[in-house]
Amino acid sequence: MLFHAFLIKYAEIAIKGKNRYLFEDALVKQMRMALSRVEGEFKVTKEQGRVYVFCPESYDFDEAVEALQRVFGIVGICPVVIYEDKGFEQMAEDVVSYMEARYPGYEGSFKVYTRRAKKSYPMTSMEVSAELGGRILDAFPLARVDVHNPELTLSVEIREKIYVYSETIPGPGGMPVGTNGKAMLLLSGGIDSPVAGYMIAKRGVKIDAVYFHAPPYTSERAKQKVVDLAALVAKYSGPIRLHVVNFTDIQLYIYDQCPHEELTIIMRRYMMRIAEHFAKESNCLGLITGESIGQVASQTLQSLAATNEVCTLPVYRPVIGFDKQEIVEISRKINTFETSILPFEDCCTIFVAKHPVTKPNLNVIRRSEGKLAEKIDELVEEALRTTEVIEVQ
Ligand code: ATP
Ligand code: MG
Repeated sequence: MLFHAFLIKYAEIAIKGKNRYLFEDALVKQMRMALSRVEGEFKVTKEQGRVYVFCPESYDFDEAVEALQRVFGIVGICPVVIYEDKGFEQMAEDVVSYMEARYPGYEGSFKVYTRRAKKSYPMTSMEVSAELGGRILDAFPLARVDVHNPELTLSVEIREKIYVYSETIPGPGGMPVGTNGKAMLLLSGGIDSPVAGYMIAKRGVKIDAVYFHAPPYTSERAKQKVVDLAALVAKYSGPIRLHVVNFTDIQLYIYDQCPHEELTIIMRRYMMRIAEHFAKESNCLGLITGESIGQVASQTLQSLAATNEVCTLPVYRPVIGFDKQEIVEISRKINTFETSILPFEDCCTIFVAKHPVTKPNLNVIRRSEGKLAEKIDELVEEALRTTEVIEVQ
């Protein structure tokens, strides 16, 4: 069956007044961006409180639906067949032929739901529904009407033309990206941080990212993996500005000067400081990490408190209460899992101590950081200056 359009259902529209326009405009913008990757000219319009996609004469249905399923804010995608308005008799014939094409030999329960956008139409919505229901029963003698709990709802919208649809494909939910500011994701090559970025983007937040690279200890391929992960997240979040920070000299210096069991914590504190620098520079309102309580030594409550201490921006940790398996499930759903498990080294794992502290004492950590006084500012400056920015689409 050829569908001429999609009716887009969106929720969270308890948002009233001016905010509703912002929401809808952001939704339309994100939809256009997502559909621009699908072949053919799609027209996204907002009319009378509804958002429609009008499709080109020929297009790949699955590709279009998949693109829309990545646009946050959409809760349902209804494929629509559009008929010319040539009077009620023709409408009844069209609706029956729709049913015949879509549900041949239909035997279940159904109801017809009519909505008139064109109030001048000579019949009321109730009359149209009742009359169409009768015609469908004539054509499908084993079907029956159930207005309370039908297995099939056939929706008919009377506009300049007649819109017919009966199916709602689920969307991703959430809020359109761009309606809730911007935040900086600390993106590693692991499983957790891409999921964290996806979850925050789902709430309407635009994402920038920072990756700490430690050549030659981490390879070009490890970096490419992170770029690939950013591209996968960008399918949902829109373009991501990825900052690739050369972290090697800072790591080596910490390794030389500080107790090895504190290495990970101190290194993570420098990651947060540098991420925050770029966050502020590009007007981000928070940082995002893929940390989950207790997952590793650096994610005990004490360790999280120690890393958190160096940040002035809020740090959002959307997977904080999730088990690994729950995070893996989301990463499979958003298609980052297979890339995340590619076996390239991470800068965190290269210098790990055999017995990292699990309950770091802040005073002790600060004292150890004091040993970096001589060169650390210069090294951080250097890292900021040599950071490479990649625009990931
Ligand atoms: P992930 O699966 O996201 O890599 P993880 O379980 O390996 O997480 P850690 O390595 O302790 O956990 O990192 C915790 C968080 O710190 C990550 O989720 C990520 O947000 C950030 N992070 C760790 N390493 C890097 C890195 N090299 N570049 C940028 N961010 C990083
Ligand atoms: Mg990691």
